[in-house]
Amino acid sequence: MSNILRQIELLFKRRSTPARPRRVRARRAAPRAAPRENDPFLYEVWVRLRREYFPDREDLDTYNVHWSPRRQKRVLASCNIRQRRVVVARELFEPTACKWIAAVLYHELCHAVIGEGVHLSGGKRQWHGAQFRELEALHPDIPALNSWIRSGGWAMAVRSNRTRTAWNSRRGAQVS
Ligand SMILES: [Zn+2]
Repeated sequence: MSNILRQIELLFKRRSTPARPRRVRARRAAPRAAPRENDPFLYEVWVRLRREYFPDREDLDTYNVHWSPRRQKRVLASCNIRQRRVVVARELFEPTACKWIAAVLYHELCHAVIGEGVHLSGGKRQWHGAQFRELEALHPDIPALNSWIRSGGWAMAVRSNRTRTAWNSRRGAQVS
């Protein structure tokens, strides 16, 4: 596991900023926005995890994995099974947070593996039921990720991302 973490760090260093989402101008009666392209970095991590943990689930390589087009404060990532799409909060692209990207993507990968065949409890789908927890536990970093979130690490990453982007835009304003 330390191996994949090191690889992620290397990948992270190779990129300076996450690709800015293309701004789609809202037109009247515009069709839904075109499917977002894979982020090469996130997609690479996704496929590596898939190969390592679910080697017989090549079908999950057709998922689309990208950064959130907007700021996200509460949700680190989400998985849309019908659209075969995983969105990762752009705030995770912070020096203090990037080491959790694999664990976060693994959590979403478990959703993709289980698909919609989740247990019902009181008419509600149990997305994080026993089967999910069992799969999730195969990844060694999940407990540490959860305690990082609980201890305020995520909230801090969100704040430092705000500060950094605000500072960058101020700097940009001075130049222009
Ligand atoms: Zn979940």
